[in-house]
Amino acid sequence: MIVKKMQALGEKRSVIREIFEYGNARRAAIGAENVFDFSLGNPSVPAPDAVNEELIRLLSATDSVALHGYTSAPGDAGVRRAIADYLNKTYGVGASVGDLYMTVGAAASLSACLSAVAGEGEEVIAFAPFFPEYRVFTEQAGASLCVVPADEENFEINFDALADALSARTAAVIINSPNNPSGAVISEASLIRLADALRAAEAKYGHVIYLIADEPYRELVYDGVTVPYATRYYDDTLVCYSFSKSLSLPGERIGYVLVSPTAKEHDAVYAAVCGAGRSLGYVCAPSLFQKLLPACLGLTADIDTYKTNRDLLYEGLSDYGFTLKKPEGAFYLFMKSPEPDANAFCERAKKYELLLVPGDDFACPGYVRIAYCVTTEQIRRSLPAFAALAKEYGLH
Ligand code: PLP
Repeated sequence: MIVKKMQALGEKRSVIREIFEYGNARRAAIGAENVFDFSLGNPSVPAPDAVNEELIRLLSATDSVALHGYTSAPGDAGVRRAIADYLNKTYGVGASVGDLYMTVGAAASLSACLSAVAGEGEEVIAFAPFFPEYRVFTEQAGASLCVVPADEENFEINFDALADALSARTAAVIINSPNNPSGAVISEASLIRLADALRAAEAKYGHVIYLIADEPYRELVYDGVTVPYATRYYDDTLVCYSFSKSLSLPGERIGYVLVSPTAKEHDAVYAAVCGAGRSLGYVCAPSLFQKLLPACLGLTADIDTYKTNRDLLYEGLSDYGFTLKKPEGAFYLFMKSPEPDANAFCERAKKYELLLVPGDDFACPGYVRIAYCVTTEQIRRSLPAFAALAKEYGLH
């Protein structure tokens, strides 16, 4: 029998996908250069040259049977050693091979971690606005998502609401910094305060509460902002990392889970992450892209392009009278809709060929997400359209 829950998930309309399809129709009708599509979080800058060079080297210099064969389920030991060395050198993690589990990107890291630590009757806390798949992965694990409303002042952590949300049922708390969709970065002071709150809750309820740090945008930060490394502040941390955005490789599906070496139930939770990956059928992460990593750790795609885009867009939109906070990282801008219904605003924006995503799916109605991982040329050309849209609302 067809599982209704899965059928519903497959049939559920994806707002972003619909906007993208609409964009395709408009591109065909009026030319791609006249459509200002800000809907997708697909990196627009190429992977660093070193990525392609290393792939070519691996393909020509390595025994192809070994290169394309299965790796061990948690990942190639040499690759994991290289990642552990990099994390130790860069963040002082104290990691070793047995703390790392290679995955097919951050989505798989998250689904494995959530399946590993959150079961029937338990809750996972997420701070709005958040990546919509958190709900899918949490519910697939049998747990339920508890949403902490947004801190609309600066899109950091709403600590009063967190205090109300923590309970005996809390199994895990997800943070995402830099954030999709707000671009906010959680400061060190906030992370310390969060860690204190979670330790107090662990003591009060007598069980481990995992902090899941979803970090596909870790390196995408501007103006010297740094992203504190969560394992240094909280022992029971699981880091969900991916190279999708830092190396512009989203279609290649490569990432990892780091189980903090300080986690109180380290061996059990590491085994549970491996078991969850096994039960989800991941087998192992792509061998070629695992083996690429040692040569590319610490490299990033050209982040300067994203910074240029952010600055142009932020300054333009602020000048036109829109309400928004300057994002510190990732490649999204989260703007207040000038009318309460962000869906209606996005519909109106389409008149100017501006394709924006309503914040409702990110659990933050009344806002829109603008993905600025596009060409700088698109940003420049779109500014008059944003100006005209703002005028329609009497903003300037
Ligand atoms: N987490 C967040 C916050 C994201 O924005 C994304 C992708 O956009 C993911 C996880 C999934 O990333 P990946 O492509 O590595 O699976």
